[in-house]
Amino acid sequence: MKSLFSILLCLCISLSGYSQSYWQQEAHYQMDINFDSENHSFDGAQELTFINHSPDTLNKVFYHLYFNAFQPGSMMDVRSRTILDPDRRVGDRIAKLKDNEVGIQQIISLKHNEVALKFVHDRTILEVFLENEILPGDTAIFSMEFKAQVPVQIRRSGRMNKEGIDYSMSQWYPKMCEYDTDGWHTNPYVGREFYGIWGSFEVNINMDASYTIAATGVLQNAEEIGHGYSKTALDPTSNRLTWKFKADKVHDFVWAADPDYTHDIVVNDNGPDFHLFYLKGEKTKEWDNLGAYMIKTFAYADKNFGKYPYPHYSIIQGGDGGMEYPMATLITGNRKLKSLVGVCVHEAMHSWYQGMLATNESLFSWMDEGFTSYASNRIEQQLFPEDWSNTHGSSYKGYKRIANSKYEEPLCTHADHFNTNWAYGTASYSKGVVILDQLSHIVGQEIVDSSLLRYFNEWSFKHPTAADFKRIVERESGIELDWYFDYFVNTTKTIDYAIAEVSATENGSRILLQKGEMPMPIEVEVILNNGTTLQYYIPTVLMRGEKEIEVPMEQLADWAWTNPTYAISLQHKPQDIASINLHPSSSIADVESLNDYLVIPTKWNWEKHNLRLTLEEKRKKGTVQKLNKIKF
Ligand SMILES: [Zn+2]
Repeated sequence: MKSLFSILLCLCISLSGYSQSYWQQEAHYQMDINFDSENHSFDGAQELTFINHSPDTLNKVFYHLYFNAFQPGSMMDVRSRTILDPDRRVGDRIAKLKDNEVGIQQIISLKHNEVALKFVHDRTILEVFLENEILPGDTAIFSMEFKAQVPVQIRRSGRMNKEGIDYSMSQWYPKMCEYDTDGWHTNPYVGREFYGIWGSFEVNINMDASYTIAATGVLQNAEEIGHGYSKTALDPTSNRLTWKFKADKVHDFVWAADPDYTHDIVVNDNGPDFHLFYLKGEKTKEWDNLGAYMIKTFAYADKNFGKYPYPHYSIIQGGDGGMEYPMATLITGNRKLKSLVGVCVHEAMHSWYQGMLATNESLFSWMDEGFTSYASNRIEQQLFPEDWSNTHGSSYKGYKRIANSKYEEPLCTHADHFNTNWAYGTASYSKGVVILDQLSHIVGQEIVDSSLLRYFNEWSFKHPTAADFKRIVERESGIELDWYFDYFVNTTKTIDYAIAEVSATENGSRILLQKGEMPMPIEVEVILNNGTTLQYYIPTVLMRGEKEIEVPMEQLADWAWTNPTYAISLQHKPQDIASINLHPSSSIADVESLNDYLVIPTKWNWEKHNLRLTLEEKRKKGTVQKLNKIKF
């Protein structure tokens, strides 16, 4: 029998539009910030309304205190100095910070429903012991007083970045850690990837009136503020202003401030307006052209990846490269046109793959960075076709380079725990693109496109996992994909199909193919000396279905993955064959392309020998050529 409580819980979940098995926590922040720009510090009062939608009783909660990473000896500092290939932006800079340059986040007091709580500052995590547990379905009000010192800008956040932006305020407030079906996620901050609770923010920032503030959310008192948000002239006697921002349906809040920001608004009739905040000058002159590219970007993304729902998007000069936040990005701004547009397209696409489809980036960094890069590659191909003729080519190249080294680690590695920045970067960005683009080889591009829209429609404003995405593509295609994601996400096994042997038979010829570690459906193209092209498609048995293929391609029997080889019988004699080519039309991340293409030697004695060359021999004899079609 169901308890009354579980019936109520189910009702509450289905009313919020979730399926009964899915739940997510909810957090609404109200913060008043009093900022002291003389001392680069601030006092904060935070009221957090937290709703426990989980079926679990909580007797502890945790907050992130990200600023504490910017202290000598912190885990981020040690990690940055000991990793094999340090991030040059960090290196040993944290170790050299002086007391007045470090980041500090200190909690003064914390109450749960008016009851004072005990808590422990454990580096970048606050561990909080509840006097009264939070039952499933309960709403808890946490009232906190805290103070902070803004670190010198090291990684993403901080004061005075290298382009002279005063304050880049990301990961700047005590933020409750996410609790999901896997439990708490209290990752110490070492530099990569985030995960936050869905909810809303009301942030009031009191600051010297000379600063222009850019932020997530909508400014509620634009008339009072001016600074490009309204035409209002500022009251010259007010030396401080309180900026009131409000953001709904977001899981984080960023802001930045500089007294010299130019604030332009690019009106976009068909989508969000763009707010640009930058230091106007020779080095930022391309910002004048940015708006037109962003209008095209959002039009393409709305159509292909799902409609952007917020009223505006802000591009803010700040931070240390490009980093995504809800409704905004912080980018370094002194760039030439294509670099400026490129970083903005990438960060804007994170509004889809992170901003709305909020995966746990630490566990699924490829669904965040990879899907974002896939989408931004497609958009840049539209914006700059001359540079992007091979849309995802550089991602395949990057993945193949590491797959052929000893440094590759599986995509399912926790983002913080990769051994090298190279392995993390290539897995998340390059292999993340490959896993999505290569799906078109298995299920067809139309199915990939419809899956991306369905993924958006079913999972935006939630926390999808890899399994959720896989199920979407399976339902769209009718093809089973366990094997594909298992191999590509959980292992570093590679695809390496090869042409193993060509021989004469009684009735014609036989082409023997050989597979590497990972099965894939493959295509084979045989060109005859008379100019005829024969095309074959060999599905793998694991798919339980096939994509639609177009005549003249002929579908052959499934390749049972346990068989190391597969024979194609032809009615043509071997001396009639000019060349054989694997993977002629689709992108496929075959890590050894030299054994995918064979030019048949014209003077081969077929009566005496089968044609079976090792890679070494092929290299020597020059019978293998790299294809132009697949530019790896
Ligand atoms: Zn990114």
